[in-house]
Amino acid sequence: MGELSAVLPADRMVAVYRRIDALARDAGGADDGRSIGERRADVLVDLVMGKRYGTTDTEVSVVMSLPTFMGLSTAPGELEGYGPIPAELARFACARVRTCVFPGCSRPARDCDLDHTKPYADGGETRVDNTDPLCRHHHRLKHAGSWTLSQPVPGHHVWTSQTGYQFVTEPQPYLDEQV
Ligand SMILES: [Zn+2]
Repeated sequence: MGELSAVLPADRMVAVYRRIDALARDAGGADDGRSIGERRADVLVDLVMGKRYGTTDTEVSVVMSLPTFMGLSTAPGELEGYGPIPAELARFACARVRTCVFPGCSRPARDCDLDHTKPYADGGETRVDNTDPLCRHHHRLKHAGSWTLSQPVPGHHVWTSQTGYQFVTEPQPYLDEQV
């Protein structure tokens, strides 16, 4: 037996764990003699080796005080299953962006991946001005190189197609700004 570990941004770590755990809980029947830990390990191997599973909803919860939510406090929020995260990131996760940030996409943020505008592997940090929700489809398009994304001003997303055409999405207004 061997052990494998990875150091990931907290939000991705929680999302990866939740997905593996959800798939493991669905795997096997009542007569499955494997422990939940064994099933999680089997699911991890299956995913890495390319086995395709059906869609499983993965929910990541962020909890914070009302003053933090309103921007009146810098007390940290809590990423469930991980621990404290900076107030700024907690507010982003819950309030700043409510949908996928690809132009015209209305997929709710809770159903999206968290994408690093500048990829984490290239030194992109998990900060409010470098982390936004992208639905799985648009996340894959970005990583396939069909579109490039920059964020010259936090919340202003500049999408550039392979032919050089650009779309810009602006920060989404808070609900009380829409009335
Ligand atoms: Zn999308």
